[in-house]
Amino acid sequence: MDLEDTLLMMPGPVPVAPRVLRAMSKPMINHRGAEFAAMYDDCCEILADVFQSKNDIFIISGSGTAAMEAAIGCTTGKDDVVVTLENGKFGERFKDIAARYGKVNPLENEWGHSFDLDEVEKKLEEGAKTVTLVHNETSVGIQNPAKEIGKLAKKHDALFIMDGVTTLGGDTVNTDEWGVDIAVVGSQKCIAAPPGLSMISVSEKAFDAMVDKERMPYYLDLKAYKKSGDKSQTPYTPAVPLFFGLQEALHIVKEEGMAARIDRHVTCAQAVRAAAAALGLEMFPQLKDGHSHYSNTVSAMKAPQGVSGNDIKKDMLNRGITIAGGQSQLSGKIFRIGSMGNVQPKDIMLTIQELEVVLKKRGVISELGKGVEAASDVLDSLL
Ligand SMILES: *Cc1c(COP(=O)(O)O)cnc(C)c1O
Repeated sequence: MDLEDTLLMMPGPVPVAPRVLRAMSKPMINHRGAEFAAMYDDCCEILADVFQSKNDIFIISGSGTAAMEAAIGCTTGKDDVVVTLENGKFGERFKDIAARYGKVNPLENEWGHSFDLDEVEKKLEEGAKTVTLVHNETSVGIQNPAKEIGKLAKKHDALFIMDGVTTLGGDTVNTDEWGVDIAVVGSQKCIAAPPGLSMISVSEKAFDAMVDKERMPYYLDLKAYKKSGDKSQTPYTPAVPLFFGLQEALHIVKEEGMAARIDRHVTCAQAVRAAAAALGLEMFPQLKDGHSHYSNTVSAMKAPQGVSGNDIKKDMLNRGITIAGGQSQLSGKIFRIGSMGNVQPKDIMLTIQELEVVLKKRGVISELGKGVEAASDVLDSLL
C-alpha cells in the first residue's frame, strides 16, 4: 500500500493539509530576524484563542512530552510533592517525570476508570505543591474532569498542570477559567500540524513556583522561554520548518473557528460511538463519577470476544487505514480510532465501512451496514 494512500485515523500524528506541507518547504530564515518574530507572534495570538488563556504561551521544539517535562521540571524541587492522577499511559508518564524531579504521591486508578473526586481531594489534603491531570487520556479514550480538578487544586492551593495534548485545538478547554497553571499541547494531534513541536501556557503562579527552585532544566527552562518570548523568539534555534507548518495549521484552525472545530470533533467522535454501539462493540472507558466522559477525539473500544485488537489494527492497515491498538498492558485488549485534527465525515464513514468488513470477515458481525447507517445519521448534522 502506498503511504500516500493510507488514511491515518490514529490519535496522532494526524494527516496534515497539503498547504501545511507546502509551507514547510519554504527557504530557511534567520530565527533572530523580523520575519521569524512576526510568525512567532502570529502563532501565539491564535494559540491564545485555542488555550482560552491570557497567560504566556511558548513554543518548544520537542514533542508534547518535552512540554510535560518542562512543566514538572521547572516547578518541582526535590522535596516538593506532586500528586499525579493516573488512569492511563500519559497519567503514568507524568508520574514518571515527577519522580525524576521531586516526590510523587500518585493516585493510580485502573486504566480507563474514571477518578473519584473524593479520592483526589484526599490526596491533596495530604499536602501537595502540584497536581497533574491528563485532560483527555488518549491511551484509553476517556475525558477526565479538568474543571472539577481545577477547583480542588485551587481549594488546596496546589499548582494545576494539565496535559491538554488531545483536547487543545479540538475540544473545549478553558485554561484560565479552570485555573490551569500550566497547560500543554503537541503539534501532531488536534491542531493537525506535523509532529515535533509542543506549546505550553504558563501562569504567574507557575512562574512564582520556579523562584526558589535549586536547579532548573537547561533546554526546557521556562524562564529562558519567557525572556526570549518577550522578544518573540525562542531561547535556542527552533525547528524553523516545523514553525512554518504550525503557522499554516493554525491559520486553518482560525479560518474554521474554534466553535465549529469543536463541534466537528464532538460530532465525529459521537458518530464513531454510535457505529460501535450498532455493531455490538463495547466502549473501553468505565465512567462512574458523572463528571467524566468518552473522549471527543479518540474512541477506545474493547476487542470483541476471541479477536485481538492488534488483529483488527492489522486488518485495517491492510485495507489502507491506520488505527491504533492498545498501549502497554492494554495491547491486544482494545483498539482505538482517532478522530482529531482536520478529520471529515467521509473519513469516519470510510473507516466504519472498512471496520465492518474486517469484523464480518472475522465472524464478529453477520451483515454489513448497521455501523455505516448509525454513523451517517450522526454526521448528517455537519453536512
Ligand atoms: C500524544 C500525547 C502526548 C505526547 O506524546 P509525544 O510522544 O511526546 O508526542 C502526551 N499526552 C497525551 C495525552 C498524548 O496523547
